[in-house]
Amino acid sequence: MAVEMTKKILLATNNTGKLAELRAMLSGLPVDICGLGDFPGVVEVKETGSTFAENARLKAIGYALQTGLTSLADDSGLEVDALGGRPGVLSARYGGESTSFENKMKMLLSEIANVDFSDRSGQFSCAIAISDEKGGILFESKGICRGQIALSPIGSGGFGYDPIFVPDGYEQTFGELPGEIKRNISHRSHAFAQIMPFLRDFIAV
Ligand code: IMP
Repeated sequence: MAVEMTKKILLATNNTGKLAELRAMLSGLPVDICGLGDFPGVVEVKETGSTFAENARLKAIGYALQTGLTSLADDSGLEVDALGGRPGVLSARYGGESTSFENKMKMLLSEIANVDFSDRSGQFSCAIAISDEKGGILFESKGICRGQIALSPIGSGGFGYDPIFVPDGYEQTFGELPGEIKRNISHRSHAFAQIMPFLRDFIAV
């Protein structure tokens, strides 16, 4: 008798906001999803790369080798044009890793306090990498979401820098907009859309 095996994928993040978004994007697929919280023994893979793509690759490979699972990792962040793309890959560490997002947003807003609203453009960027259990990269993708940096934080939805980011085509921040809209237009959803065909094939085999 043939035994059907549900494929298992590790979504390699400790960020509960990201994990919720990623799970929602995979919700229609017959796949067993786990997070890093299911593997208390794993050692954190350091984001030593200088690009989002490099960090996504490092994390996908590092966690796949430790867990023996196909692993999907993303690296993402906010790039502010008036700051030459900062904080970029250092978004999570901006102002110090333990600094709250309330304070990170305050710092960032004070850095661009003198920049006119018309020049407060920027983007969220996301790179995704999928590694097989032996550390071989199976697929990579990138997505961006352009927008403006708000004058002050508004809204409590989403996570991270969402309250100060107004995506192009909208007048509210990601902190105010319904999660469903963010899931449709975000950097992560654009990167995800590219990997969906690969994931469907992977899960079906
Ligand atoms: P990492 O990808 O886990 O290294 O962290 C990315 C950093 O950018 C974190 O500080 C996040 O809060 C921030 N970030 C990434 N994606 C988003 C998003 O969709 N909304 C708000 N902040 C984000």
